[in-house]
Amino acid sequence: MNQSQQSRQSVLDQIQLACERVQRDPASVQLLAVSKTHPSQSLREMYQAGQRSFGENYLQEALTKIDELQDLEIEWHFIGHVQRNKTKHLAEKFDWVHGVDRLIIAERLSSQRMDSRKPLNICIQVNIDGQDSKDGCQPDEVAELVKQISQLPNIRLRGLMVIPAPENSVAFADAKTLFEQVKSLHARPQDWDTLSMGMSGDLDAAIAAGSTMVRVGTALFGARDYHH
Ligand SMILES: *Cc1c(COP(=O)(O)O)cnc(C)c1O
Repeated sequence: MNQSQQSRQSVLDQIQLACERVQRDPASVQLLAVSKTHPSQSLREMYQAGQRSFGENYLQEALTKIDELQDLEIEWHFIGHVQRNKTKHLAEKFDWVHGVDRLIIAERLSSQRMDSRKPLNICIQVNIDGQDSKDGCQPDEVAELVKQISQLPNIRLRGLMVIPAPENSVAFADAKTLFEQVKSLHARPQDWDTLSMGMSGDLDAAIAAGSTMVRVGTALFGARDYHH
């Protein structure tokens, strides 16, 4: 096995073990490969190792990779902060956007998504543990956002995304509770199937709490170098 195959296999093994511990089906947890800062060639190798979904945080960097990797059947996820003036690129180039925290962003994504393409999958980002960072809506705003966003055309509202502070597994449980609470408000509740939480350092705790999609960078690609 090459390096990409090995690290992917070891993350998949970790997911499987975490699922067995809490009697969940390993197929109920998807692995999203977070590839920010890594070159297209690393994504290509991870693709050849079997990985299909990749998450990127920075729009320009992502657009370059999407272009360079056009020959692959990659499912592209945007997991960074969504700026209002960047929604057009997101609507045109991505399959998923995880960081939606305001209605206006979802409305723009919906109107900018081409009718000819499948609806854009989105998650509402919630600031579940009251961090100072301004990303994510407040937990008490989620109900209203679910009602409104789930009615937009060209959007498939899939669930919630959270990035709690390290070691805060209570936040994962809170996210799961909120996720279940608002489901009935969705215009198409069967679409509400994704709880995006857990990264390299806390994926076991996230899976124990009910995560359906872990976003893993470092454990797959190694440490990131922001200074090249
Ligand atoms: C960078 C990033 C990740 C991956 O983090 P690792 O600790 O490298 O696994 C996951 N989610 C988001 C939103 C990120 O920005």
